[in-house]
Amino acid sequence: MADCIFCKIAQKEIPSSVVYEDENLLCFHDLEPQAPVHVLIIPKKHIASLDAVTQEDAALLGGLLLKTGEIAKLLGLENGYRLVSNCGEDGLQTVRHLHFHLLGKRKMTWPPG
Ligand code: AMP
Ligand code: ZN
Repeated sequence: MADCIFCKIAQKEIPSSVVYEDENLLCFHDLEPQAPVHVLIIPKKHIASLDAVTQEDAALLGGLLLKTGEIAKLLGLENGYRLVSNCGEDGLQTVRHLHFHLLGKRKMTWPPG
């Protein structure tokens, strides 16, 4: 999608620090890490948010969640981690391309801010 920064990252028009990539998914380091490990996992397909997901995306998202556990292992998050997808205005989503924050290597707090 034109003017979508994560589409541009997925298409390598904007550089990123890639952790994992396959034909459907990209995982790269967040520019402003909120934990010692903070990566973003995105579908390469433009989907605006979890609100925009359709039945057609079921296999894609199932694959993404399965891969998340593997990426966590790859990043050494044996002691646990947090997976977050901010959605819409109340969720404070700033980039309107579905993404999952994978955060680890520090003790998280609850409730989130
Ligand atoms: P959210 O606020 O949930 O929409 O998260 C967007 C995230 O994207 C933030 O954590 C930003 O730091 C991150 N971000 C924005 N632009 C880039 C970029 N070019 N490369 C890596 N991370 C980015
Ligand atoms: Zn996009």
